[in-house]
Amino acid sequence: MTDFEFQAIKSVGFVIALAVAVGIQRLRPHRKLEGSWRANSRLWALDVVILGSVCAGCACAVSRWASGGGVGLLNQFPASAWLAIPTSVIALDLVSYFWHRANHALPLLWRFHQAHHSDANYTVTTALRFHPGELLLALPVRLVAVAGLGVPITGVIVFEVVFALANFCEHGNIDLPRKFEQALGRLLVTPALHRRHHSREARLLETNYGTIFSVWDRLLGTYGENRSDVRIDTGLPEIDHPLGTLEILWLPARGVFRGK
Ligand SMILES: [Zn+2]
Repeated sequence: MTDFEFQAIKSVGFVIALAVAVGIQRLRPHRKLEGSWRANSRLWALDVVILGSVCAGCACAVSRWASGGGVGLLNQFPASAWLAIPTSVIALDLVSYFWHRANHALPLLWRFHQAHHSDANYTVTTALRFHPGELLLALPVRLVAVAGLGVPITGVIVFEVVFALANFCEHGNIDLPRKFEQALGRLLVTPALHRRHHSREARLLETNYGTIFSVWDRLLGTYGENRSDVRIDTGLPEIDHPLGTLEILWLPARGVFRGK
């Protein structure tokens, strides 16, 4: 697979994931919100340009290199795609869980990650609201994980698309039917579970770090129950107005906003 094909498949998957999440959000809105889509979309456009310039096809290149050189766990034995792809998705999601926890635990990383948490309008486009500094710091972590696990290119693509779908849906201003939400939340991260992670209250903020699977939080003691009918005020405690794109970019330099 060429780098171009990799990017094209990833981009189509990304657009479909976004459309699915926006569709569910329209069908089952949680509460009336203004939305911060302008600032979030501008930030995302900047991220695409910066990350694209630094290393657009890095994950693809690292996967190809690991496969060619017999590097990484999955390249040590002949694993079929049926085993290698789900293993890759599960393992990369676990790496993402630990990276997310590090973003909350280490003050330098939190300075960048708080840009994501600064959205008082918790909607699908919150999933686009990442400071380019956070994404640049995350890039080597993701690449080391791909090499260390020996993730095949198809595994990288499936993970990135499933991760994008989970990321868009769980940031949605979405209510789910009670029983479906309960059943889904046993395995996967629901919008209500992740909404709790975006609370203005520090006590709630330090829970539900998972993106695809909720089992990591359950196994590692960071799970916090939440349902669609519970109101959670999202955002950062000391920020009381919607931030523009430049203000979001400037947040790491302004200080640490975390609440008590
Ligand atoms: Zn977070």
